[in-house]
Amino acid sequence: MCGIVAYKGRQNASEIIVPSLKKLEYRGYDSWGIAVINENNIEYVKKSGRIEGEDIEINLGDANIGIGHTRWATHGSVTDENAHPHLSNDGNVAVVHNGIIENYKELKKFLETNDFKFVSETDSEIIPNLIEYYCKNVRFKTAVKRTLKRIKGNYSIVAIERETGIICASRRGSPLVLGIGEDATFVASDIPAFLDYTTNVVYLYDGDIVLIDEEISFFNLDENVEVKREIEKIEWDAEQAKKGNFKHYMLKEISEQVDSIERAITQDKELIEGFAKDIKKARNVFLVACGSSYHASLHGSYLLGKNTSINAIPVLASEFKNYINFIDQESLIIVISQSGETVDVLDAVKMAKEQKGKVLAIVNVQGSSLTREVEKYILMNAGPEIGVLSTKTYTSQLAILSLISYSVNNKYKKGLKALKALIKYVYALTSKNTREYLKKLSRNLRYVEHIYTIGRNLEYPTALESALKIKEVSYIHAEGFAGGELKHGTIALIEKGTPCIVFVPEKNNEEIISNMIEVKSRGAYIIGIGSKNIEEFDFFIKVRDAGELNSICQIIPIQILAYHLAVMKGHDPDKPRNLAKSVTVK
Ligand code: GLU
Repeated sequence: MCGIVAYKGRQNASEIIVPSLKKLEYRGYDSWGIAVINENNIEYVKKSGRIEGEDIEINLGDANIGIGHTRWATHGSVTDENAHPHLSNDGNVAVVHNGIIENYKELKKFLETNDFKFVSETDSEIIPNLIEYYCKNVRFKTAVKRTLKRIKGNYSIVAIERETGIICASRRGSPLVLGIGEDATFVASDIPAFLDYTTNVVYLYDGDIVLIDEEISFFNLDENVEVKREIEKIEWDAEQAKKGNFKHYMLKEISEQVDSIERAITQDKELIEGFAKDIKKARNVFLVACGSSYHASLHGSYLLGKNTSINAIPVLASEFKNYINFIDQESLIIVISQSGETVDVLDAVKMAKEQKGKVLAIVNVQGSSLTREVEKYILMNAGPEIGVLSTKTYTSQLAILSLISYSVNNKYKKGLKALKALIKYVYALTSKNTREYLKKLSRNLRYVEHIYTIGRNLEYPTALESALKIKEVSYIHAEGFAGGELKHGTIALIEKGTPCIVFVPEKNNEEIISNMIEVKSRGAYIIGIGSKNIEEFDFFIKVRDAGELNSICQIIPIQILAYHLAVMKGHDPDKPRNLAKSVTVK
């Protein structure tokens, strides 16, 4: 879970790499570093802390080959020494690495017995030194191949060789993509890193090694042959990946939901109906995901259960192995992931395929590992989501799952109409007025220690997602419950003034209102979300009722609330502590 960038071209490498790294900081931001090849020397700078806000005077000369890294530490604390790039003992090779080398202890011992010294506590420092070890007898590319053959675990790496100026990059289970500009080649963990320079990309496959010299060549380690990889044009433009007039990506992305939902439902009808057909045909159906996408899965499962005779089981990707005995060739597994690189999701896909299950996906990033691993996929079309929290992609997932659920009942058109009608509600919810109104609420809540959220039925996943949004960005403890569940224990924590957010639909709301009164009687401060104000509400957030599509609208005020809480508490909402956008480690 880190950001990698490499550049080889005619411009000043560090001047290209610094802004590119800033665009990747959402992937990891505890330290950063850059190395360039300058007049036959590798020069580098690396520091703990964020690249943003640093007084970035990087005096690395005029080099036009370089690599950069923003770290999300897994092995070794956050120190300057542990920041990447890491150099080989002889200074001929520098490496940036994303992932974990599972057998690093054994490899470290091996290198130490061959007189190699280590200056960091990371697993990553093994890589340049192993390359140096092999370089004694063979050329750089072969040395990289041999090194990668000895490494266990998921990785993406970029290595540069001082003597030749060659860049060698490889991936296995972690993302890495090439950007092909007019006079320059880029390698990065994610496309926004080089979107200012090119929209021509080459997606790397697992086991691919790319060599960037005068020419670019590809080799696949698993197939043990030279391979061809096509250049593809991507549709994202650089503007989409910028903050524009917004102070933070999170707010920009929340505000974009009118467009992102519209794009999510602008799908190929046949593709959606194909998913619906597969759902109907399957003996059993699993909706597999992590984090917010898991809440979307739960919502999808409720929708299907309510409107069709399909029992779709929502499963956390990291727990999927517990369901493996139920998977066979008649099972359908739909995985949901923004990045398409989440390692828990990719592992679940692998397991499902080993059992011969049919695996489909709903994913945002085209060309991601997931898009290559599954039989077919629906793209969320949300555009780049840079803020670490999932906001617009969550509502896109809900919209797509709703469309699929309508299609299972042969009502694609009706679903599309309902979703289109919803967009004007979303418009009002993302307006400046709503944002100002919710700012008031965040002022009331900024010093509280706990917030509870409750909802029943389709609003239960919304309660879970709301609690996650609040806690992950404001660091206020928040917990979501099914309306009926709070009284089975947690109600003991309610005291005078404890904030409790309640999602109230227009119809069939008697039970959730009773639950609300139960907590209100114990002193809770009630924040009600629904279409009508109720006298028990202490604070009312009006959201027009959209029936079964309520979840898409009702989460938006909470996303805004969470954003304001973070800003008021002095946190950076785009980079919550300890989190990273795409979780490529277990
Ligand atoms: N395991 C490496 C480290 O801890 C790389 C982590 C990352 O992906 O940023 O330095």
